[in-house]
Amino acid sequence: MSYQFPTYARWNVTVKEAKGSWVIDEHNQKYLDFVSGIAVCNLGHADEDVLTSIQEQLGKYWHMSNLFQQPIQEEVAKKLVESSDGDAVFFCNSGAEANEAAIKLARKFTGKTKIVTFYQSFHGRTFATMSATGQEKIQQGFGPLLETFEYLPYNDVQQLDHLQDDVAAIMLEVVQGEGGVVPATEDFISKVKETCEKLGALLIIDEVQTGIGRTGKPFAYQHYNLSPDIITSAKGLGSGLPVGAMIGKKHLVETFGPGSHGSTFGGNPISMAAAKATLAKIFEEEFLKEVEKKSHYFIEKLNNVIGTHFLVEEVRGKGLLLGISCKEEIGEIIQQLREEQLLTLPAGPNVIRLLPPLTVTYEEMDVAIEKINQVFSKQKQSVLSE
Ligand SMILES: *Cc1c(COP(=O)(O)O)cnc(C)c1O
Repeated sequence: MSYQFPTYARWNVTVKEAKGSWVIDEHNQKYLDFVSGIAVCNLGHADEDVLTSIQEQLGKYWHMSNLFQQPIQEEVAKKLVESSDGDAVFFCNSGAEANEAAIKLARKFTGKTKIVTFYQSFHGRTFATMSATGQEKIQQGFGPLLETFEYLPYNDVQQLDHLQDDVAAIMLEVVQGEGGVVPATEDFISKVKETCEKLGALLIIDEVQTGIGRTGKPFAYQHYNLSPDIITSAKGLGSGLPVGAMIGKKHLVETFGPGSHGSTFGGNPISMAAAKATLAKIFEEEFLKEVEKKSHYFIEKLNNVIGTHFLVEEVRGKGLLLGISCKEEIGEIIQQLREEQLLTLPAGPNVIRLLPPLTVTYEEMDVAIEKINQVFSKQKQSVLSE
């Protein structure tokens, strides 16, 4: 019996404590956490520097509103601008809000209404971002949706040719996260960029899941030859404190003048303190290089161990946003992995998504691979015994 709406199919796990890559439940069962709060706790659980930063800010004040000057917002904004192609930041509280801001800004700046997004994308649960999300199951029962979104197939270069100059913006993830851990191809990204230039449309990159070092760069678009007009961030930005950010280029700044948009909690100083400490660590070159190295190690070892398993289609992703794409539904496997004390999550019906903290050790990756191997070996037996 719960006093909450049953919007989540929760696991039967109650966490007592979490530290680094590990969580301990109420029965002292210890799990290796390759979910990281859904790509949020990129520094692992309870990072000391984030904790200290939050505590220091709590000792000063924890809410003031955006009526006041807030130097800590400026510090975080500066760091985001210096590590991206953007020039100015708008702070909010979530990924959906960051995308909502991007959609509003794109409409107001261009004076056009149509936004192009892609099938299997995920952009959030508010009306605009649910409408932007190219998945029927997310939208079912909530219509009529915002009508000005057009969906195209992801990684399909040809379809972009049919767009007209009534497009305000093209919005996409460079690795579709919820939609199955699908990286964009180089060709597709070049074509998206070219199309935006041709049509006078803005390019919005949704980095809510892929950003903040998750793929081994500050933002995943930096793997491509790309300079987006707008970048949205959230999830990993505050290491678990709620914060979102929309980062935009200089030419857009005047469009969001005083009174045009806002958020009471946006840029809350406690979230800013968390973001400041998070970015100070993750946006270091050495740290990001290490993420790339871990990624190569993990992908190679995963491929060696389960690459030829009859269920496995491919191991894919970027950095430490990885997916094991399978030929059958994987709900059962995720549950079995959990029983082996490895926490993972699905991305669509057939993909096991692995989101270890970026601070994961090589030993921990080995432990995970061992558990994955165990569970996949069992699949073989149970199918053969049928
Ligand atoms: C999680 C996610 C969102 C939504 O973020 P919320 O903070 O849940 O609103 C939007 N876009 C992408 C790519 C995401 O992964």
